[in-house]
Amino acid sequence: MNYKRSSALFEAAQKVIPGGVNSPVRAFNAVGGTPIFIEKAEGAYLYDEDGNKYIDYINSWGPMILGHAFKPVVDAVIEKARKGTSFGTPTEIETKIAELAVKMVPNIDKIRFVNSGTEACMSAVRLARGFTGKEKIIKFAGCYHGHSDSFLIQAGSGAVTFGTPNSPGVTAGTAKDTLLAAFNDLDDVRNLVELNPGEIACIILEPVAGNMGCIPPRDGFLEGLRRLCDENDILLVFDEVMTGFRLAPGGVQERLDVRADIVTFGKVIGGGLPVGAFAARAEIMDHLAPIGPVYQAGTLSGNPLAMAAGLAMLEELDSKREIFKSIDEKTAYLHEGIDSALKANNVPHTINRLGSMISIHFSENPVTDFSSAANANNHIFKEFFHGLLAEGIYIAPSAFETWFITEALSYEDLDKTIAAVNKVAKTL
Ligand code: PMP
Repeated sequence: MNYKRSSALFEAAQKVIPGGVNSPVRAFNAVGGTPIFIEKAEGAYLYDEDGNKYIDYINSWGPMILGHAFKPVVDAVIEKARKGTSFGTPTEIETKIAELAVKMVPNIDKIRFVNSGTEACMSAVRLARGFTGKEKIIKFAGCYHGHSDSFLIQAGSGAVTFGTPNSPGVTAGTAKDTLLAAFNDLDDVRNLVELNPGEIACIILEPVAGNMGCIPPRDGFLEGLRRLCDENDILLVFDEVMTGFRLAPGGVQERLDVRADIVTFGKVIGGGLPVGAFAARAEIMDHLAPIGPVYQAGTLSGNPLAMAAGLAMLEELDSKREIFKSIDEKTAYLHEGIDSALKANNVPHTINRLGSMISIHFSENPVTDFSSAANANNHIFKEFFHGLLAEGIYIAPSAFETWFITEALSYEDLDKTIAAVNKVAKTL
């Protein structure tokens, strides 16, 4: 494939944008090479500036659950835009999408819209602190909740030590209130709770992790967290930015039948426009300004174009619930095909999947947390990534990402992908 124009555009971008990208995962730093500049997308396909076509397994990192340029979403945005793009006043459509979200998701009475997943998680933690009057939070290594200061924390030297920031600019004062646990390790969490009695406001996690590849929760892990939270007056926060409106109409709460106290959303809920949201029972949400003391705001929150896109997306998913089964089946088909192709070529691997979230780690051992994910062979991943790209298959340029499956993928696309994996596997 020819990447001439992408290379030239990347050169120009690097002069005026740090690293040439507005979000680091878009650069090919983890895999090497020049990022591809996309000109347009439709259905399951991306088209780059050099005219190359790709089957897309990133799907804007999740939102395009029904494919790119999905007509009802595009039409809704265009129609709204004609009436003005932002007013900074309440609008009817905000209530409509809120009503639908509250209907689809279990255990929430009220929802507030923001502009990104980062904002949703940041606000959820502030609300948890305001509601409980406690300051510390527990997060899990390898779970990503956006780039707000409290979440950019890596492990200290043991469960008792405070977290240390893993980005310059995050203060030690902030880091000390974020405690870090190992995903799928209930004892680790219990230990942190016992060592910090009466101090933990919330436990936040991706209930099905998607930011270290896909790592489903072990049997009993979410239920154990729920019990621990109930016993210690801690709020359980599910970050459903990836899983919400994907793993089931009501997200992980519905799919795995465990209830969270606060749920955060992003991606699908905005239909590809900048939207995030957080939601909870009324007694918790009513702590927010203007009726409660916990401040949270946004000039463009509930923006009409963003709400129009999100509403069109949720209406489609709510009225055609067979879509959830269909994307699961497509992902299972892909799972089986890729597994067979890698096995036939003796490439050691582990595939994790729950519903329409799937990832491949080049490791023979089970991948159940961040450290087992980090032990996989990144060198093979890089070759796999570039091999697939040359075959017109676009997966995320990092081994720590999940593939996002869209309903727009046909079984022919899936067969092409499996054939490409088979071809590339021979070279690994
Ligand atoms: N939470 C999760 C689980 C995510 O995957 C992401 C983004 N990938 C975020 C939060 C942050 O969302 P945003 O990039 O919209 O700020």
